[in-house]
Amino acid sequence: MQPRLWPRMPDVTAQVARSVAARGPYPLAMRVRDELGELFTDAEFAEAFQVRGRPGWSPGQLALVTVLQFVENLTDRAAAHRVRYGMDFKYALGMELDDPGFDASALSEFRARLIEHGLEEKALDLLLSALKDRGMVKAGGKQRTDSTRVLAAVRDLNRLELAGETLRAALEALACAAPDWLADVVPVREWAERYGPRTDSWHPPASKTKREEMALVYGRDGFTLLGAVHAPHAPVWLRELPAVQVLRTVWLQNYHCTVTETGTEVTRRESRDLPPGRLRLTSPYDTDARNGLKQGSWWTGYKVHISETCDDTADDQEGVTDRGTCPAGKGEPPRIITNIATAAATVTDAEMTEPIHHMLATRDLLPAEHYLDSGYPSAELIVGMKKNFGVALITPVLLNSSPQARAGTGFDRTAFTIDWDNRQATCPRGKTSTWWSPASQRGTKAIVVKFDKETCRSCPVRDQCTRSKTGGRTLSLQPRELQEALDHARVQQADEQWRAKYATRAGIEGTIHQAVAVTGIRRARYRGLHKTHLEHVFSAVALNLIRLDAWWNGHPLDRTRTSHLAQLDLDLAA
Ligand code: SF4
Repeated sequence: MQPRLWPRMPDVTAQVARSVAARGPYPLAMRVRDELGELFTDAEFAEAFQVRGRPGWSPGQLALVTVLQFVENLTDRAAAHRVRYGMDFKYALGMELDDPGFDASALSEFRARLIEHGLEEKALDLLLSALKDRGMVKAGGKQRTDSTRVLAAVRDLNRLELAGETLRAALEALACAAPDWLADVVPVREWAERYGPRTDSWHPPASKTKREEMALVYGRDGFTLLGAVHAPHAPVWLRELPAVQVLRTVWLQNYHCTVTETGTEVTRRESRDLPPGRLRLTSPYDTDARNGLKQGSWWTGYKVHISETCDDTADDQEGVTDRGTCPAGKGEPPRIITNIATAAATVTDAEMTEPIHHMLATRDLLPAEHYLDSGYPSAELIVGMKKNFGVALITPVLLNSSPQARAGTGFDRTAFTIDWDNRQATCPRGKTSTWWSPASQRGTKAIVVKFDKETCRSCPVRDQCTRSKTGGRTLSLQPRELQEALDHARVQQADEQWRAKYATRAGIEGTIHQAVAVTGIRRARYRGLHKTHLEHVFSAVALNLIRLDAWWNGHPLDRTRTSHLAQLDLDLAA
């Protein structure tokens, strides 16, 4: 592949494609070419491609094909087929009618090069830059973000299956890389019977005892193989094989091998002895995938965080909060996806708040107000995002979780007046604290405030204040700036007007639904975090183009259909 200017649109291609398109809805691919021209120029991808050697397909054109592939949720083969036979694709790419296109494998190679050279974000960057030039997206204003789960492109494995499949993968790699060496160190016939078939092609024993025995057989075999690979006379490069390294990690995480007087004893780690979820491998074929838990359900894979613009529009003024799938039709540009972030399933939403703002800052698209659900903020983030990025997080914070606040009857923290300058608190009975000390609670800075136990012991409203039988009331505060931000947010979110404003956030659910339904974002196409993220970036570009196409052609995308029963329910409620 060599970067070069796109060829001029052949007259015959333009003429034939337009005459075919005149008989039906104007195709998205052609409209994108008409409106945005050469959206992806080769020069933008130059660093990932050789400038010497036989010229290949243009990386800019491959980028556009990949986006169009995600618009229609096509496989690589189907996309290559469309390039060869589809009039709209030929028009979008400026190809001659008799151009045979490329082999489907070029798309896979193109993606690998983007990842290898850190150009994963390039397609979204270029589209957003083109939209910024047209004034359709800008910094400031409002944006909203939410996340959803992404299932890895591998099968869910339990611990027994993980052990069997990991050993099988290592044996496959060694049988391919060093067959003679392997035949010398393991009983090939016996192991071929045991590890030849995939673990999902047969049923494990129903008996728990037999499954335990089987896990120990796997464990012993795995240590035998690892011992042979790491033996002094074994070729050193065998240890570097990725499948062998995965085997070593999975065995470290799942088994103990103890040297005793009679030999070595292999045991499985108890559940409580396993490493934390964010370190634990879940499949030998995707070592980035992790087990996640959200709203009570488990999955193996990743999480994707989608951010989009959500400025007020005429529709919003009419009470419509979800315009994610609605074209303007009234002059305003559609909602534009400004960022897409992918993380392992174990990474919390709050851990992604800062990286998302960094990415938006890199694109010069930081919002003035960012609407998020309660998983994203913390007192530190509310203060930090305002201070470092100038972004106000519009998000509910967790309510006070003290026993008094939970009960809703006693004196919670808000019943106390805090005098930060004099490092003193005053209780509802007018008594002042006698102890004020900085402390560390679960690794974060805090301030512990105590009241005199003698005073509290004789207090007539003691039952409403503390559960301690003998001690005085104790308060835990965050450092001043954080505590004040938290208190302010808690007061704000109790206000009806704030809640009405916060309803803007809900529209991102429609965007997530669109991403899942149109580009299949819920199931990863590829293995590994980088490839999955690249897929998400192209999905985001595709969704933006779908929205822009609807806006350009003035045909609103369908809203979610309301069933007759739901409509009846709404009518009765009204
Ligand atoms: S129990 Fe102590 S802190 Fe609480 S109201 Fe009574 S005197 Fe004040």
